[in-house]
Amino acid sequence: MSISFFLDLGKNIFFLVIFLIIVSFFNCYFLSPVMVSLDSKKRQKIFAELKQFQQHDFSFSSGHILGSMCTVPQPIAREVYMQFLETNLGDPELCPGTKEIESRYITFISQLLHAPKTSAGQIVSGGTEGNITAMWIAKQLSGKKEILLPTSAHFSFQKIASLMGMKLIEIPVTKEYVMDVAELKKKIHTTTAAVVGLAGSTELGTIDPIPELSEICTDEHIFFHVDAAFGGFVIPFLKELQYKVTDFDFQLKGVSTISIDSHKMGYAAIPLGTLVVRKKQWLETISVDSPYISSEKQAGILGTRSGAPVAAAYAVARFLGHEGYKQMVQSCMEVTQYTERRIRELGLPLVMKPTMNVIGVKLKKPGHVVDRLSKKGWRVNKVERLSCIRLVLMPQITKQIIDEFIPVLKKTCEEVGEL
Ligand code: PLP
Repeated sequence: MSISFFLDLGKNIFFLVIFLIIVSFFNCYFLSPVMVSLDSKKRQKIFAELKQFQQHDFSFSSGHILGSMCTVPQPIAREVYMQFLETNLGDPELCPGTKEIESRYITFISQLLHAPKTSAGQIVSGGTEGNITAMWIAKQLSGKKEILLPTSAHFSFQKIASLMGMKLIEIPVTKEYVMDVAELKKKIHTTTAAVVGLAGSTELGTIDPIPELSEICTDEHIFFHVDAAFGGFVIPFLKELQYKVTDFDFQLKGVSTISIDSHKMGYAAIPLGTLVVRKKQWLETISVDSPYISSEKQAGILGTRSGAPVAAAYAVARFLGHEGYKQMVQSCMEVTQYTERRIRELGLPLVMKPTMNVIGVKLKKPGHVVDRLSKKGWRVNKVERLSCIRLVLMPQITKQIIDEFIPVLKKTCEEVGEL
């Protein structure tokens, strides 16, 4: 081989190296920033698109949602939620740390409800899943299909009937809007799978006579579920604040299960609730073998489920503590009493004296008022069945917000002939 061959090869390698240096320089100093800026432009575009949709939403933080039982969560929840976004409690050995948070949160809820040592908790997405899971257990344990429940029960029971082929037998309510115990007694039968009582009804926040229902269910050996989706985080604190409220929890020995929602008065992020069952082994009746994941059995309805709302709710509970919740309930009740007074001053009657931070305002045509208020940027809920609108005085609602709302309500009621 001639010397010129080696000279040419050397030249070629030299040019190749130069070429590679230029390419990598271009890549680092030109291409990547271009890619990055393209990437950030794309992100901005997506955010702008989403923002456009979001602008149509009512927000809890605006204070203009007066009819919902949900709330803008305590600020710590937001940060913690993001931190736990990738966790999956449906596959618990993948995240034993988050699993531990879950079990601590269940302990907190169980203590709040005075659950016995034999009890267990099942994290659920909210009141609907809590009720479904409770009725699933009742059906499995009793082998029966009839549910006795007040006419004021939440519509999730309609789903239960449809999903599980169960039959709903509605018990009328008294003039205080709570389940009529005498009527219930007439309907108890050998075919009864469960009795349901409300501790904080959806429409008015009423509490059924849970102690009496508990006794009846103990005597008759009937499964008794307490739907405390709303009231579970209110009643314990009302009691401590010396309000006269009915007992509702596991201290009553006939109570079999209680569902309680953290995304309502638990001041936590959506979606989160807990179903507490008196006997741990009852969860076995709703468990299946789960061969592909880290636990051998899985109880309940959901498979994959995020640890984020659980960690967020735990953080809220740690942050507020028992005293924090108590103060929150106290302030909600003060705003409720203020609202009650302002509404009565307008000349509008209430359906009943509020038991908790839920107010029903009697109207001739609640639908008209709700529609007009909505156009004016205020959301309240209509309850056609009781010919009223429902206001729920959640933690984000202040007296100042009520002062803004009352003139709008007055004007609206005048426009449609309610006043
Ligand atoms: N139970 C009661 C008493 C409720 O008030 C509600 C909702 O407002 C539910 C159950 C259903 O809860 P979720 O919508 O969180 O499933």
